[in-house]
Amino acid sequence: MFCPKCSAEYRAGFTECADCRVPLVAELAETKRRDRRPDMKFKTVFTTTDPALASVAKSVLEAAGIESFAIDASAFPGGLKSRLQVDADRAAEAEALLEELEE
Ligand SMILES: [Zn+2]
Repeated sequence: MFCPKCSAEYRAGFTECADCRVPLVAELAETKRRDRRPDMKFKTVFTTTDPALASVAKSVLEAAGIESFAIDASAFPGGLKSRLQVDADRAAEAEALLEELEE
């Protein structure tokens, strides 16, 4: 079980984060996806340790009309990289755009 706010991990049996006072969830990433749009599948198309580059990547996708979601590294326990997710249907298109960005 995880706290959706601070990402702390709890043993089974706990239902609330002791620090944040919010209900725990079984899995962080899945919950975030469900909260956004239940009928959409997302694919991670870009990961980076540089938050500024993540913003640039998001702008590139926006300019192309592709909606993207940035997941900050701090959302994952021990996470080091920010991730950008897009609708799985547009993942190939997004990857092509971001490939140019990386070069
Ligand atoms: Zn918490």
